[in-house]
Amino acid sequence: MGKPTGFMEWGRQPPERRPVRDRVGDYRELYQRWPEAAAKEQGSRCMDCAVPFCHTGCPLGNVIPEFNHYVYLGDWEGALRTLLSTNNFPEFTGRICPAPCEASCVLSINSDPVTIEYIEKEIADRGFEQGWIKAEPPSKRTGKRVAVVGSGPAGLAVAQQINRAGHQVTVLERAHSIGGLLALGIPDFKLDKEVLKRRLDLMEEEGIVFQTGVDVGVNYTVERLLNEYDAVCLACGSTQARELDVPGRDLEGVHLAMEYLTQQNKAISGEEAALDDRLTAEGKRVVILGGGDTGADCLGTAHRQGAEIVHQYELLAEPPDERPVDNPWPQWPMVLRSSPAHEEGGVRDYGILTKSFSGSEGKLERLHAVRVEWKQPENGGRPAMTEVAGSDFVVETELVLLAMGFLHPEHDGMLTQLGVELDGRGNVKVDANRMSSVPGVFAAGDAARGQSLVVWAIAEGRETAREIDLYLMGETNLPRSLSD
Ligand SMILES: Cc1cc2nc3c(=O)[nH]c(=O)nc-3n(C[C@H](O)[C@H](O)[C@H](O)COP(=O)(O)OP(=O)(O)OC[C@H]3O[C@@H](n4cnc5c(N)ncnc54)[C@H](O)[C@@H]3O)c2cc1C
Ligand code: SF4
Repeated sequence: MGKPTGFMEWGRQPPERRPVRDRVGDYRELYQRWPEAAAKEQGSRCMDCAVPFCHTGCPLGNVIPEFNHYVYLGDWEGALRTLLSTNNFPEFTGRICPAPCEASCVLSINSDPVTIEYIEKEIADRGFEQGWIKAEPPSKRTGKRVAVVGSGPAGLAVAQQINRAGHQVTVLERAHSIGGLLALGIPDFKLDKEVLKRRLDLMEEEGIVFQTGVDVGVNYTVERLLNEYDAVCLACGSTQARELDVPGRDLEGVHLAMEYLTQQNKAISGEEAALDDRLTAEGKRVVILGGGDTGADCLGTAHRQGAEIVHQYELLAEPPDERPVDNPWPQWPMVLRSSPAHEEGGVRDYGILTKSFSGSEGKLERLHAVRVEWKQPENGGRPAMTEVAGSDFVVETELVLLAMGFLHPEHDGMLTQLGVELDGRGNVKVDANRMSSVPGVFAAGDAARGQSLVVWAIAEGRETAREIDLYLMGETNLPRSLSD
């Protein structure tokens, strides 16, 4: 696969990112297009390793060496055919997947892995440009009706697969735009919303019906959902944010990350453009609490809005630069990660516990924190946290963004009214066939898995569609997807 000696001839060379000074002035995507020769060169680095661990690194089981080989040969149509056989939306994963496949690429044992994610993006973008990615409506309809609640990547993958099996699919979405976190969470500089729109247009052409402003359990009853459809898939995400219950939390200026990111995405798409009291970081000293992806998205957004200075604080200790010995290849490396947003500025700090917020006239002015240390107990178990005596400090700030993760799907409303059983972490419990405790009601993506990744949402969506088809028809031709 690729060129057996390619990895010795060329190093890893991802596409160029736009210069920082240009990109912080707008919300356009960061990466520039690859010249074809560069993409082919990178595809050739796939080295015929015999046991392609990348297959199992990818939750979709993408057939990576094969599409790399096609790219090396310049057969972009063949590459696309291979990619689409396992992945409904490579134009999304090619842009925002953290690429666990690359962590398990055999080359990364002692060198830099193949640029799998960027190759995937290039194949998908060429597929759209050349008109090779087209609507694929089913040749006949079964007469069965399926409702998908939630239009994030899990809901979209279920809908596309189940529609291809000939069932009539309606996607019910409470927001006014379709796409879940692809539309309202992930910033445009990572995923341009035109990329989402061109896919949604094709899905409508395939016959999928999208209804927005439908909040199941609030303005649409669960009885109606169960009565009108032959099967239902809950793809409602994991939207209950982890809160910070400290004095001063209710001051104006302390907000959940999603309140902030959603407003910016809506503003770019023209929704709520005239909102006068829009949350903005312009001219403010911003503190982001949480060192993960959501925090990095807040960081990139705050710089684009013209923040004066941004601090990003993480409670946990700073991860190592290199893999620890107990975290060997091909496992996902637990190391310090930097996103392109970190190239753009900001101050990152670790081992910081926020104790309170203070201000005047109801408005935030300061964050009060203390440094903490994490120690592994001698008898094993989870690391324990202790405050470092005398390390208290205060930061002047006008905007604090809470980006500390998500707990589980919202229980009030739809899930309580349906009476679905929950697992120990508060997610929708599903059996081996991805059905919840309510017959005919399935679940996919973050709703069942907890907050995860787009690639997992698509993989679970594909798998759940297969199970729904089997439930409705007694047999199925839809493919299996999960690599494990
Ligand atoms: C800020 C942020 C950045 C992220 N960045 C990345 C990234 O770069 N790469 C990556 O792989 N992952 C990323 N993730 C994680 C990824 O977005 C999620 O894992 C993925 O979107 C989950 O897909 P889903 O379809 O299960 O749920 P979601 O995308 O959350 O979609 C659920 C949908 O259900 C709707 N809904 C909920 N309840 C109802 C109801 N009662 N009635 C009707 N509709 C309802 C919601 O409005 C929402 O549209 C990020 C997450 C966040 C928060
Ligand atoms: S979807 Fe993600 S994990 Fe799978 S091949 Fe693409 S970049 Fe790798």
